[in-house]
Amino acid sequence: MARTAVSGRLAWRVARLAEFRDETPTARTLVFDLPGWPGHLAGQHVDVRLTAADGYRAQRSYSLAAPVNGDRVELTVQRVADGEVSEHLTGPYAIGDPVEIRGPIGGWFAWRPTNPEPVLLIAGGSGIVPLMAMIRARRAAGVRTPFKLIYSLRTPAEQYYADELRTPVAGLDITYVYTRELPEGRPGIPKRIDVATLNTAAWPAEFGATSFICGPTAFVETAADILQALGHDPHRIRTERFGPSRD
Ligand SMILES: Cc1cc2nc3c(=O)[nH]c(=O)nc-3n(C[C@H](O)[C@H](O)[C@H](O)COP(=O)(O)OP(=O)(O)OC[C@H]3O[C@@H](n4cnc5c(N)ncnc54)[C@H](O)[C@@H]3O)c2cc1C
Repeated sequence: MARTAVSGRLAWRVARLAEFRDETPTARTLVFDLPGWPGHLAGQHVDVRLTAADGYRAQRSYSLAAPVNGDRVELTVQRVADGEVSEHLTGPYAIGDPVEIRGPIGGWFAWRPTNPEPVLLIAGGSGIVPLMAMIRARRAAGVRTPFKLIYSLRTPAEQYYADELRTPVAGLDITYVYTRELPEGRPGIPKRIDVATLNTAAWPAEFGATSFICGPTAFVETAADILQALGHDPHRIRTERFGPSRD
């Protein structure tokens, strides 16, 4: 029984692109129709597999960007220069085109709306994707769990979900950190996340928050190290690494 459930969950399913939205000039949200999708938790990811006409296959992981919504599944893909899969998904891949998806994958980097502890979300670049699924899951469940989001990005133009995040939400506190260019009129200079940032913008360690950190590998490791140095319980720090950073 358990084996059937597991193999069923990880079966490849054919998804077709139903809609898309450009988040930035280089990042696209893809909404798929995925019949038979078993559902997922905010924070989980999927494997996406492309097959070329000559049978060549490429497979990559992508985080689910939205909470469960029937047979609809949403991903946001950042185009990486010379990236085999991301250039296709953010370029020629068109409405109605098929792709194979399996999942959901990952149970540790997941947030359940029944969890009452405060939540700290720390995103680096496209690492915002699974954290946005958590913010959306909180809203969909109508719970008031206190959330803080610290979103590090290179420039204001690279922000994903800008309109949605601009709308104030009670109990969701957002801090932006810009590493290359500040929004017009914002005082200070660009900088990376550091001890001072997390000391000011994160929950104090004694609040016992659960932290979810996601982004390029080096970013995630730096942020996790700082949280631990500030006294956060390492068992409450959950991380997801997207891969190399070109910064
Ligand atoms: C659990 C998990 C979840 C992920 N979720 C997302 C997501 O929600 N959205 C998203 O856009 N990506 C996500 N990724 C990254 C994604 O899986 C791919 O690595 C990325 O799309 C690049 O694949 P590619 O085929 O286009 O590039 P490749 O052809 O594999 O690589 C091309 C070049 O880009 C570099 N590169 C590879 N991966 C990255 C990267 N992540 N960042 C910067 N440079 C890279 C390579 O070193 C190489 O030089 C996730 C990764 C993991 C492990």
